Amino acid sequence: MSRLIAGLEARIAELDAQHLRRRLRVAESPCAPHVQVDGRAMLAFCSNDYLGLAAHPRIVAALQEGAALHGAGSGASHLISGHARAHAALEERLAAFMAPQIDDGRALYFSTGYMANLAILGALGGAEVELFSEELNHASLIDGARLSRAQVRVYGHGDHAQLAGLLQASTAAGKLVVTDGVFSMDGDLAPLKELLTLCERYDAWLVVDDAHGFGVLGAQGRGVLELLGLRSPNLIYMGTLGKAAGVSGAFVAAHASVIEWLVQRARAYIYTTASPPAVAHALLTSLDIIAGEEGAARRAHLQQLIAQWRDGLRLTRWQPIASDTAIQPLVIGDNGEALRVAAALYEQGLWVPAIRPPTVPAGTARLRVTLSAAHTADDVSRLLTAVHQLEKAGS
Ligand code: PMP
Repeated sequence: MSRLIAGLEARIAELDAQHLRRRLRVAESPCAPHVQVDGRAMLAFCSNDYLGLAAHPRIVAALQEGAALHGAGSGASHLISGHARAHAALEERLAAFMAPQIDDGRALYFSTGYMANLAILGALGGAEVELFSEELNHASLIDGARLSRAQVRVYGHGDHAQLAGLLQASTAAGKLVVTDGVFSMDGDLAPLKELLTLCERYDAWLVVDDAHGFGVLGAQGRGVLELLGLRSPNLIYMGTLGKAAGVSGAFVAAHASVIEWLVQRARAYIYTTASPPAVAHALLTSLDIIAGEEGAARRAHLQQLIAQWRDGLRLTRWQPIASDTAIQPLVIGDNGEALRVAAALYEQGLWVPAIRPPTVPAGTARLRVTLSAAHTADDVSRLLTAVHQLEKAGS
């Protein structure tokens, strides 16, 4: 065996020994709570399909219609020839939808949220910029911060007082505060009202990654900004379209000048092929649903399930993290125990992922339960019963 391959295999074996090796499972039916996985019928609590739109018949039909209208691929990056009517229509629609939260706003569509974050931080960074990053930010923001060439300062989870001190002390020409809106592994919210007040006081941008809030939070589904009633020219909002919106991609909504700067300078926007226009076409239907009565009804049902889950928990050893969102983690602590519990649930046909370091801090391995409007109250009861039995059996 080559020495290079042997070296990698030794490192993979080390991951295995630390219970940190991840495994791919193959889903053989469309994303839904009741799903076929590797030939088995499972009840899933792991997708980010919070409104249950990923297999919605109207969106599936719109995707097919989009392919018939626009073909399969865009053929080029946006600035060359790949920017199709469907992309432009989606951006206009998103800008109008987000208008109550963003002054003189415009929206820009990206193939993924990961790329949108790289684009924002890459384009607004620079050696003269200081970037203030919340400690539990998503990996894509961390990678974006690295790409930005800015001085990065990390502040504690939710610690706006610490951030205030850092901003006050900063003499940088440009300041960027960067945070998840809903923390992806904890489910809690950033204190955005306080962060925005600070950003306005110290002339800093506030970049909010609302991957887990867009479509879910707020009466109309405009996300965490709507929920908290925030609006400001300092806001740069990133929402993803592959989670609650049920399809794929992401968008940035911000002042029109910010968006123009991204078009001119964001390498993660410029140097990549535009996603299939059919996807943008399907997203127009998805936005209709999110903004309409059906979206409101799905959000209300999801809230009921979240309340049922939280009210039903009676754990003694495992720690639920305080969260009112669809992300409901149970901290188990030890990597091996988290894996064993997830495996025992899987044996019972319940698919809940064990999240381990480096995705979460060492010693906080957890089950990450995600609820969806496509679940029923019976689905949630079934998981509650199983979790309680397993906790009791292990103590
Ligand atoms: N930000 C957060 C907080 C996320 O959880 C994710 C996806 N896991 C992303 C960004 C990346 O979005 P996408 O999956 O569209 O690349």
